[in-house]
Amino acid sequence: MLIEMHDIHKVYRMGKTRVHALAGLDLHVDGGEMLAVMGPSGSGKSTLMNILGCLDRPTRGTYVLEGEPVAGLSNDDLARVRSRKIGFVFQTYNLLPRTPALQNVMLPLMYQGARDRRQRAEQALERVGMADRMDHRPSELSGGQQQRVAVARALVTEPAILLADEPTGNLDSRTSREIMTLFRQLNDEGVTIVIVTHDPEIGNCAKRTVRMRDGLIVGDGPAPHVDPQEMSDDGAESAGSPEGATVGSAMPSGSSPPRSSERS
Ligand code: ADP
Repeated sequence: MLIEMHDIHKVYRMGKTRVHALAGLDLHVDGGEMLAVMGPSGSGKSTLMNILGCLDRPTRGTYVLEGEPVAGLSNDDLARVRSRKIGFVFQTYNLLPRTPALQNVMLPLMYQGARDRRQRAEQALERVGMADRMDHRPSELSGGQQQRVAVARALVTEPAILLADEPTGNLDSRTSREIMTLFRQLNDEGVTIVIVTHDPEIGNCAKRTVRMRDGLIVGDGPAPHVDPQEMSDDGAESAGSPEGATVGSAMPSGSSPPRSSERS
């Protein structure tokens, strides 16, 4: 068992008010899973993601990651676990804009003081199909290419788990399919992936879907595991979905479109 969470509570204090963001949640994830966490805005997805990713601690409950209890760790120890065991992929890529792709991917290895940094970063970029763009800066790459570099950066430390927060939220539907195809390929190679998304089509590409509401898991079962190439063209923008995705969690209409992936 890779992830064992039991009776996880997270309470935020806002002055005199207390918000119960997670209300006694249980979650088990095995190595090799591809899991989508879904649910309406405010249901606790980000809070769960932060705790899963060792960015935050639960108020109460147990969390065992790869056999190591992490719920009660100090900030320093939590950071150590995070840098060794978790790879993050964000909606906005979070790359250093003026730093070439290769150096962006080497960065987590520098924090670890790892050896063979250049070689390992090159291998990670090859793995995501970016071998021919290693010297490009993020500003010289399309959105999909930037996200590939971000995936390489997340994978370069060989984490136990890849955590992706709305990884296709800034991408057009074609590029979303490419990124989901990459995730599927990595999962086939054995990478454990957890994706938080409000988009049902993205969720359908996973092997398992967990549905949240009011800080609890209200549904947990196999997902259709559809081939991302079969996602519809407007998949990434399917607002008003049965998930109850709120307006505002989707990309606002009229915002600048994602960079075209023509150059990919
Ligand atoms: P989701 O990611 O599903 O939209 P969140 O985990 O962000 O849900 O939020 C769950 C609940 O916790 C919401 O009611 C939200 O307002 C509250 N919440 C989240 N973060 C904080 C915080 N830092 N301080 C106070 N309340 C918070």
